[in-house]
Amino acid sequence: MSKSIGRLEGKVALITGGGSGIGRSSALAFAREGAKVAIADLSPEAGEDTVKLIQQANGEAIFVKTNVANATEVRALIKKVVAVYGSIDCAFNNAGIEGNKSSAVACSEQNWERVIDVNLKGIWLCMKSQIPYMREQRGGSIVNMASVAGLRSGLPRLSIYTASKHGVVGLTKAAAVEYARAGIRINAICPGFIQTPMLERDEETFSQLKASIETLVPAGRLGTPEEVAEAVVWLSSDAASFVNGHAMVVDGGYTTR
Ligand code: NAP
Repeated sequence: MSKSIGRLEGKVALITGGGSGIGRSSALAFAREGAKVAIADLSPEAGEDTVKLIQQANGEAIFVKTNVANATEVRALIKKVVAVYGSIDCAFNNAGIEGNKSSAVACSEQNWERVIDVNLKGIWLCMKSQIPYMREQRGGSIVNMASVAGLRSGLPRLSIYTASKHGVVGLTKAAAVEYARAGIRINAICPGFIQTPMLERDEETFSQLKASIETLVPAGRLGTPEEVAEAVVWLSSDAASFVNGHAMVVDGGYTTR
């Protein structure tokens, strides 16, 4: 791995949902900047593949199979990271799902529970276990995955997803205020349309999105997972030492229209 400029040298970073898309690109970027990386994901195959990619580039990483919506598994994850690497300096709470697409009225209770459990409760559970360790070690940085859907409405048939991501932004801001004096910075990242398996899964919606991207997004294109990873690394690094409680948009200008 070409060691870039070592913005996270000596740090330990945890990335949830690190087996795919933005999580995988971020895991690679954290490792490139010198961090030891713990990857949590539902899928052992995907998570271990990210570990292999990091190791092939001479980085250091472990995988811990975790469902972020399960409190026991999240507690075990944080314990394991600290047991293996001795600390937890940066956390990127990224795992999330889009859920079934429907209007607010047509949404089933089961879909509501699933989306809120993973996207919002999952982030709360992660912070609940991460913050006590960071307090003990007198500092740390947390980046929570929100979305442009955490700042505005307008994504068709994604009302519950939108609610979950607004919740992430609110929780991030509240927690940032609560733990600022403990030296812990907590920010959210709000990507626009990023080309990942999540976006590509629904082929019909994806081809419609591609057809309208030039009018929808001032940049005229989809974003890449690497472009989001770059912002997450910066937010996690000491370069962002006075940035706290911020919801950073990475969207090619989409929300400014
Ligand atoms: P992705 O490629 O589907 O990656 C999501 C990863 O999270 C997958 O590896 C998935 O595992 C994992 N995951 C899902 N549920 C989990 C759980 N309960 N516990 C642990 N891991 C879990 O999608 P992505 O686009 O990179 O999305 C990453 C995050 O970015 C999500 O929170 C998403 O809402 C957010 N986001 C994405 C976009 C976009 O345009 N792509 C825009 C804004 C925000 P499995 O594959 O095994 O389910």
